[in-house]
Amino acid sequence: MAQPRFRAPRGTRDILPPESTRRRELVSRFADMADRAGYGQLESPVFEDVGVFQRLGPDTDVVAKEMFELHDRGDPPQHLALRPELTASACRAYVEHRPTPPWKIWYEGPQFRYERPQAGRYRQFSQVGAEVIGAEDPAADVEAITLAVRFFEALGLRGVRLLVNSLGDPADRSAYLAALGDHLRSHSGELSPQARATAERNPLRVLDSKRPEDRAAVASAPVMIDHLSPAAAEHFEAVRAGLDDLGVAYEICPRLVRGLDYYVRTAFEFAASGLDVAQDAVGGGGRYDGLVEDLGGPPAGGIGFALGVDRILLACDAEGAFGPSTSAVEVFVVDVAGGAAATKLCDQLRRAGLGADRAFGGRSMKAQMKLADRSGAALALIVGPDELAAGEVTVRDLHGSGRQYRVRLGDAAEAAWAELAGTAPGR
Ligand code: AMP
Repeated sequence: MAQPRFRAPRGTRDILPPESTRRRELVSRFADMADRAGYGQLESPVFEDVGVFQRLGPDTDVVAKEMFELHDRGDPPQHLALRPELTASACRAYVEHRPTPPWKIWYEGPQFRYERPQAGRYRQFSQVGAEVIGAEDPAADVEAITLAVRFFEALGLRGVRLLVNSLGDPADRSAYLAALGDHLRSHSGELSPQARATAERNPLRVLDSKRPEDRAAVASAPVMIDHLSPAAAEHFEAVRAGLDDLGVAYEICPRLVRGLDYYVRTAFEFAASGLDVAQDAVGGGGRYDGLVEDLGGPPAGGIGFALGVDRILLACDAEGAFGPSTSAVEVFVVDVAGGAAATKLCDQLRRAGLGADRAFGGRSMKAQMKLADRSGAALALIVGPDELAAGEVTVRDLHGSGRQYRVRLGDAAEAAWAELAGTAPGR
């Protein structure tokens, strides 16, 4: 076969059926849980003014190194960026529309980051997430974290660990960063060249290093939770107590720093044991009090999370959870009498609420029966010249018995419903 002239761009891929159906079901499971917990869907643009994302912090890799930026055709052109995440857009929307707080929203959709593609890491990937904006109460942190935990449980995932940390308030952080900076400087001989460079720009991110060379210096580094102000410590305590009360298991991970610099106080991540360690994060989130104000809004706290759909599905594959969905096609119409009956029958069946499909192009009985099997349909409705002459159709059970009988063409939908419900006469 000739090589295709075009392929999906590097780091992107086509999600084909039936996997696309499974993804949609995963998203709809999340949507349903979030809706029922009082969150409403936010649909925001896929691109924003680049300034919206720049508020996430100049040291945030996602912003500094990974954004897809573009200029539109305006005069002067507007500097835009494809969204690398959705929290900033949610805060921008909050400032623009000023909904009554707390504003509880969920979202889903593609995000874009110019990363080095590898298994579980793409340049276009999908997230589902939720945010509570305009709430400082630690109960909001507990609610958001628990929503994600219950979602993983609902998918049947057992190997997802919840890691939590507190990053303190901005005022606590300067004293801590000074202590961390001192530590890293005095251990600079033990650090990888990359970590040494990172230590100069953003010492916190060194704690994130997965390089074995950095392990010892990171393990002995001071940790933020030992430098919390009384208010931040009390908040963290309340979040932990809330999770304990609900029986939500977590591990305190004092070296957990998230890749996005705007987090304060609560930070958390979900790690899937079935995935390769470098790419085992299936989601994460935290508190971002201050972001709304940075975007020109009123003082408003916020807490939220984003979960990676692509990686959750990889984790499901690794655990054998949330398997492929069953076919939506219930009845397959096999027409070997010219095809006009199939057109009518499919329409009749679909209008009666049945999932129905057919073949095209006057194919043989054998070829059509093969397609019927592949479609996942439980029933075939067969129309040949005999049936057509008699104004009838043959109903054949494709799963199990293989029994068949004829009904009048006009009764086909009713017969199909009865077969599928297991109430057909003669069963
Ligand atoms: P973040 O916004 O970086 O906290 O990411 C939240 C979640 O999105 C991560 O835990 C991953 O599951 C997923 N994610 C982030 N970046 C990528 C990527 N490049 N490819 C696939 N999934 C990603």
